[in-house]
Amino acid sequence: MSESQEVAKINWVNTLYLIISPIVSIAALAYWFYKGWFNWNTAILFLVFASIIELSITAGYHRLFSHRTYKANTFVKLFFLCFGAAALQSSAYLWSLDHRVHHQHVDHKEKDPYSIKKGFMWAHITWLFYKKDEQLDEVHAPDLDSDTLVQWQHKYWVYLGAFFGFILPAMIAHFAWNDFFGGLFVAGFFRSVVNHHATFLINSVSHCIGKQTYSDTHSARDNWFTALLTFGEGYHNFHHEFPSDYRNGIRFYHYDPSKWLIYGLSLIGWTYDLKRVSASIINRKREAMLAKAA
Ligand SMILES: [Zn+2]
Ligand SMILES: [Zn+2]
Repeated sequence: MSESQEVAKINWVNTLYLIISPIVSIAALAYWFYKGWFNWNTAILFLVFASIIELSITAGYHRLFSHRTYKANTFVKLFFLCFGAAALQSSAYLWSLDHRVHHQHVDHKEKDPYSIKKGFMWAHITWLFYKKDEQLDEVHAPDLDSDTLVQWQHKYWVYLGAFFGFILPAMIAHFAWNDFFGGLFVAGFFRSVVNHHATFLINSVSHCIGKQTYSDTHSARDNWFTALLTFGEGYHNFHHEFPSDYRNGIRFYHYDPSKWLIYGLSLIGWTYDLKRVSASIINRKREAMLAKAA
């Protein structure tokens, strides 16, 4: 490919945001401390927004829309679609198409959109610097095509993301404790950088560091460290082996708040039809891997 063809394929909006947002938000964070504006209200607001937005990606974009591991009522779907948009990781529709291709062609150098075989940085972030529309044209997702809420969010996700990820925390901090700057830059921009890289870790670290508990036919690894940063998504070997299961961490001591949230909502009927792979099938795979290691 010539240099001009290579440049024509660059997605400049993504590239500039992903490069500039960490620089601007860390500078803004430093300025916020330097001016003596630090306050616990904004710090807690940052944590709350970072958490609900990450959960909207893990339990929403990933386990609900990409894999359909359970069903949810309209309120839960709307909540995940609105706050998921605030993660600035595209619409749930495009995110899910990319992710389904990732599972279908995992580790394939050309077909897996964030293949670890193209290097750590490619899997982590560089794949987002390029346009990849033709690849997604081949994906058929009738369930997402006919989901009116998903299609509505696909149309308006930029506005939803701007409101729920930036305007809302800025307004809360401004009107409740007079810290518009902290609301916008700490709970908004800096938070978006944290959400970006937490999700990106799954495509990079979870495909090269950790245990292959259930299979070594793909690069996905189980890793408690990334699970801590991504509300349970780090048990990625299990997930690639059993993607229809709403759980990623299956043991009681596994840190998987996305699973706890989905299960908790099922107790009040807001989520239902939670899919689990049977323990005997899971154990068979695990024992086969143990036998192989021995
Ligand atoms: Zn993966
Ligand atoms: Zn997945």
